[in-house]
Order: sequence, then structure tokens, then C-alpha cells
Amino acid sequence: MALIVQKYGGTSVGSPERIRNVAQRVAKFKAQGHQIVVVVSAMSGETNRLIALAKEIQAKPDPRELDVMVSTGEQVTIALLSMALMEMGLKAKSYTGAQVRVLTDSAFTKARILAIDEEKMRADLDAGFVVVVAGFQGVDGDGNITTLGRGGSDTTGVALAAALKADECQIYTDVDGVYTTDPRIEPKAKRLKSITFEEMLEMASLGSKVLQIRSVEFAGKYKVKLRVLSSFEEEGEGTLITFEEESKMEQPIISGIAFNRDEAKITVRGVPDKPGIAYQILGPVADANIEVDMIIQNVGVEGTTDFSFTVHKNDFEKAIGILKGVQGHLEAKDVLGDDRIAKVSVVGVGMRSHVGVASQMFRTLAEEGINIQMISTSEIKISVVIDEKYLELAVRVLHKAFHLEQEV
Ligand code: ASP
Ligand code: MG
Repeated sequence: MALIVQKYGGTSVGSPERIRNVAQRVAKFKAQGHQIVVVVSAMSGETNRLIALAKEIQAKPDPRELDVMVSTGEQVTIALLSMALMEMGLKAKSYTGAQVRVLTDSAFTKARILAIDEEKMRADLDAGFVVVVAGFQGVDGDGNITTLGRGGSDTTGVALAAALKADECQIYTDVDGVYTTDPRIEPKAKRLKSITFEEMLEMASLGSKVLQIRSVEFAGKYKVKLRVLSSFEEEGEGTLITFEEESKMEQPIISGIAFNRDEAKITVRGVPDKPGIAYQILGPVADANIEVDMIIQNVGVEGTTDFSFTVHKNDFEKAIGILKGVQGHLEAKDVLGDDRIAKVSVVGVGMRSHVGVASQMFRTLAEEGINIQMISTSEIKISVVIDEKYLELAVRVLHKAFHLEQEV
């Protein structure tokens, strides 16, 4: 007998029929003798509908009231799923975040979980109930309803699994796992049987969004065994997100190719090559709360240098404006921008123990005539910025060069 936390996303509970399917799957696990805690999202589209409704009344909805409102989406699905389970002859009981007591801080719309009372759930499980908990929501120390940020039900699932010391946290979604890259770009992309937490964080933050990034961090921190599976397929192992030691003995060097179309590049040309220049350029950008991702500074020639960095496309105009404002003060020759770029990354813990990954990547891109504009690396990732029109080609040739179609 195992204790399993299962989380079902919005599309998996998007209609009464789908809710019945979820109940059937839960019943199957229950029949195998497992104890089950189910975490559900709101029905697909519901959270967006509620937010839009709030905005019809208040252009910038009051955060406390918005949380009171959007948390209702999940309150509906926990009751419906419990009813569906009862209709199948199972004992089931639903809890809102406040009823479990998922205690959070008071940062409305982006609250963080502080503690979870697991006694009630434990007692219900021992009495044979399926426990159904509303994802995405909690309660602060003063009893205010809070929510955990968009996609927060994943984090609820992982947090409950951690609190209950569950054997596994299963995240059911509309894809059947984590892929070597986006199958819409490379149809030969393969589902990974396992991936490490670190790789998953790189893949997710680089645009292969399957799980809320916070839930992966949380699972890594509390050592929760996390599995991503499809709620629309009967069988299938999904992808296990795990620790390096526990995954395959022989690591593939590269686990996947991630990419991101959301960034834009800014270059400050011909600034004096002197101490403090990076701070003078990026200080005002940081003060405006703009996050900077990749940064490169050239080697100075004749006392001046070029300085480039990337920001989210949403912040592009603003960042350009700020730098044009300080251009005179910086003594810069020019401030240039390019929002037609894309970032492509190869990710894999195996590169820690292998040399030549970067040169393989650069050779592959060169053979296709793809110019690299910027490069950044971490221990398990190499990212390049290229012209966005070559993104799909780059993903495909890299996928092939690192033999990811053979990955199983
Ligand atoms: N219903 C919330 C959202 O749409 C939380 C979730 O689905 O994870 O963001
Ligand atoms: Mg989600």
C-alpha cells in the first residue's frame, strides 16, 4: 500500500464527463489498496473567466478580494469530484485550502506556503476516505483566503505530498510527460522516462512549460518523488522527476533542447571601458524592476567596449527608453535593440562529466549557417541567442546532433 497524491489540472476536470473519468482513475488506484489524496484545479478557463469578471468591476482588482473570488473555481471542482467518487461507491471528502489548513503568508495572489496541517487528511485516509483538496489556495494567519499564483495547484500537490510524506506525487495533465523538446517543432521528440530536478528547472524556465516552476523547486527541496502523466491515457509511465543518483546509471549527456522566444536584446555601443560601467548600465534597469537574463561585455578596444544583455520582450521598450535617457551620461555611442531573437539551450547533467558539448553545439549551428549572437553557460546548460527566424531549424539540428531521437 502506498500513499499517493494525485493532482489533476483544469483540462482534466474541464467537464462533468472528465470529472467522472478522474473519479474512475482514482477508484482504480484505491482498488489496488492505495491511499489517495487528490488535488484539483478549477475547470479549464474558469480562473481566467473569474479574473476577467473582476476586471469589469475594478480595472486593477484588489488582491485580497481577487483571491476570495478566484479561489471559488477550485471549491467547485473539489465538491464535484467528491460527488463523482461517491456515485462510484467510494467514501470521499473535500477540503478547501483553509479547511485543511494550508497556512500561507499574506502575499495575496502570490502567497507562499508556510505550513500544512496533515492530521485531518491522515485520519480520513485511515478511515478509508479519498481526500480531495482544492489546489492553488491557502489561508493566512488572520484567516484571509490567499492564492499561490497561476498554476499554483501543482505546488499544492507537491506541498501536500511533502507534508504527508507521500510515496509519490503524480501530476496529471494534457501531455504524457516531459519531452526532449517541443514535439510541435521536432516530431521526433521523445518522452523522457526520467529527468533530474535541476534539468527540469532549466527546461521549464527556458520555456518547456509543463509544471509550475515553484512546484519543481519545492519537490527538489523536500525530496518528493514527482511524476508527470497524461490524464487522457489509460497506461503510461509518464516522466519521473528525480535525483541524479536515482536516475539512470549511464546519463545521456544531453536530456533536452529548450528554447525561449520571449526575450529581446539590447546593446549599448562604445561605452568607456572603465570600472563601474556595467553597474551604470544595469543599475537603472534593475531600479525599474526589469529582470536581465544574458549579459555580455566585449573586450575593450581603444578604451571603449560594447555591452549587450537580454530582457523579457514585455520590458524591451521600457529598457530602451531608460538607456536612451542615460546614454549621454554613459558617454555611449549608441543604444541598439533587437526583439527578433530567440534563445536555444542544450540541457543535461551529463555535460558536467563530458567535454566538447559546447563545441558540438557551435559546430552544428555553424554547419547550418546560423550565427550565434550571445552565449551563456551554467554547469548543466549552454544557451545561445540567435535570429528568431532560425529557431525551429536550430532546435531540429541540435536534437539530431545530440541523438535525442534515440533517447528512451
Ligand atoms: N486554477 C489556477 C490557474 O488557472 C491554478 C491552477 O490551475 O493550477 O492558474
Ligand atoms: Mg497547470
